[in-house]
Amino acid sequence: MERKLIGIPASPGIAVGPVHLLRWEVPEVRHRMIPDSAISDEIERWHAAVAKAKERLTRVRDRVEAAAGSEEAAIFDVQLSLLDDPEIVRGVEELVRQNFGAEKAFDIIMIEREHTFGRSASPMLRERVGDLTDVHIRVLSVLLDLPDHDPVDVPKGASAILVTHDLTPSLTVQLDRQAIAGIATDAGTRTSHVAILARSLGLPAIVGLRTATQELRGGERVILDGLTGLLAVNPTHQDLEAYRERARQEALEEEDLKRLSSLEAQTTDGIHITLRANVDLPEEADLAATSGAEGVGLLRTEFLVVGRANMPDEDEQYRAYTRVIRAFGGKPIVIRTFDIGGDKLPIGGFPSEPNPFLGWRAIRMCLDQPDLFRTQLRALLRAAAQGDVRIMLPLIVTLDEVRQAKLMLEQAASELEARGAKFRRDVPLGVMIETPAAAIAVDTLVNDVSFLSIGTNDLVQYTLAVDRGNANLASRFTPLHPAVLRLIRRTVDVGTEAGLDVAVCGEMASQPLMAFALLGLGVRQLSVSPRSVPFVKRIVRGVSAAQAEAAAMEALETSTAGDAQDILHRRLREALGDVPFLGGLLV
Ligand code: PEP
Ligand code: MG
Repeated sequence: MERKLIGIPASPGIAVGPVHLLRWEVPEVRHRMIPDSAISDEIERWHAAVAKAKERLTRVRDRVEAAAGSEEAAIFDVQLSLLDDPEIVRGVEELVRQNFGAEKAFDIIMIEREHTFGRSASPMLRERVGDLTDVHIRVLSVLLDLPDHDPVDVPKGASAILVTHDLTPSLTVQLDRQAIAGIATDAGTRTSHVAILARSLGLPAIVGLRTATQELRGGERVILDGLTGLLAVNPTHQDLEAYRERARQEALEEEDLKRLSSLEAQTTDGIHITLRANVDLPEEADLAATSGAEGVGLLRTEFLVVGRANMPDEDEQYRAYTRVIRAFGGKPIVIRTFDIGGDKLPIGGFPSEPNPFLGWRAIRMCLDQPDLFRTQLRALLRAAAQGDVRIMLPLIVTLDEVRQAKLMLEQAASELEARGAKFRRDVPLGVMIETPAAAIAVDTLVNDVSFLSIGTNDLVQYTLAVDRGNANLASRFTPLHPAVLRLIRRTVDVGTEAGLDVAVCGEMASQPLMAFALLGLGVRQLSVSPRSVPFVKRIVRGVSAAQAEAAAMEALETSTAGDAQDILHRRLREALGDVPFLGGLLV
């Protein structure tokens, strides 16, 4: 029978295929005592399970290595080494000798270990918690005889829909686009990083389904509609036909939109809007370069470390940055320094903090780890000798952070000079405005920076106190709230007055209605996901700056996000007339 699950649309596109259900969570373990006579067999059973888990991990590692390279596969080496940890082996054996069943013994030791690592002062140990959890799940699955279902096993051409609670780094590195056609997760929102990653990979995705992993059993045929957030389970023949037709239609529209790529992003009253692309993975650069974007407005460098056991060294980073520079052939590339933490996937796992979004994240982590930060800055300064690179600092709250970062940039330059390396010293340094503090006190920043870029994903989260990744709060994540609109307006006014470029690089800029609002608030630079470049260009070319401004001023007068949306919607429709290709996007 057909069923429909509704989630949050995260990455557009339609995918039809069988569900590949991945319950990647620590299974419930029953307490079981064993008699003395069973102890040695139980210890043996545990060792056999570890051996089997290792065999499985080695297979997954080899496949990931073949498909994605040894750096991506290194996460599994870390997990293999955890299985040899003598403290874990000793701890489990001891508990079994005290008559605990092997699975309970292992469960207790792993929970203890996860707690110890999670509370450790060392970030390296905290980062291992995700790996411990992966190993915990894997060995328990063997002991409890639960099915394995690593995504890497999905055969090429299967066109499977991966349904899971959330995407962990070790799952992310297994995603093979030739096998997986779409992603559906219980957790997450449009601005959570799973969604951003899915868009980068060009995989249709729905997040925030909340109960999909409980409601599905695996193997069902589903239609995943990444534009509307609808997951149709066991669809009827008519539904399938209708979706196939829509997919064909969308492909044709995309072809048509591509023709816009060579046209200028200019409003009907002649204002040029600088439209750049957000690039999250260096491999995405070639495709992004053909989207018609005038360079990169946000290169998210943290995806270089997703699922990695070690930080990329200076040379590897330099190669990744120059790859993007070359793809865009001399156009400006704004590279953001590491924004690790929050819901960002750090090396090998999540540092466990009670409030990660208010915690040790982005510029804070970089300033506290000068070696890590200076390595990145050296790579950036070297890359800047190859093209028009600009450096951008995330999550700035105070001028002190900018000044400290500048000092480190100078140190990085001196280190390169001492080495005789080729680099550029006077690289423009800008900041992201993504906290209310930075927006309100933007006047305190403008004299020390070269440009501003508004990160609306975080600005909305911190202004409205709404977790950007919490599916239960998705309807409260309203970028058109008067407080957000006023902060954006203030940033644009103060930045422009100081002679700085003010861009918007959050998801807001990628949504046509919001892009219209941003133009009206005086934003003249937008950085959007590569797939949104033609849609946003279509808006820019279809309206006048004066129309956008009138609409934004009226929206600013309203008291609620809903009213602002109604006004913008009506005004945009009036301005555009009957425009094809925007269909469901004008929401
Ligand atoms: C933002 O916060 O709007 C932004 C662009 O940065 P990220 O989504 O990577 O936090
Ligand atoms: Mg941000």
